[in-house]
Amino acid sequence: MDINEHVKKLCQMAKDANQTELYGELLELREALMEQVKSDNIALTFKEGAWYADGDETPFCPHCYEVHKLTVHLKCLYQLEKGLYDSDPAGTGWQWQCSNCKNEIRLPHGQ
Ligand SMILES: [Zn+2]
Repeated sequence: MDINEHVKKLCQMAKDANQTELYGELLELREALMEQVKSDNIALTFKEGAWYADGDETPFCPHCYEVHKLTVHLKCLYQLEKGLYDSDPAGTGWQWQCSNCKNEIRLPHGQ
């Protein structure tokens, strides 16, 4: 039995026992679980050093995703001076930071 089935069964038990408060809490838990499953199933693509979801320009933190399976959007900090971005000495890159693990990463684009 998967977690969703368990919670469904608990909802039914709470309802049968007229535990309306418990029933309400369990319904909320069930919704939260379904949201979680949805975010676990986002298909991400790795490019230029970070992970991206389809149709989403903001990269996800590679450390959080690869180590903890967390999808945490990176935050764009600032544009680097020319020559500071490794793979393109002549071009400029951007500094990004993860709000969760605080790792910083350089990417070829900003936002
Ligand atoms: Zn992170």
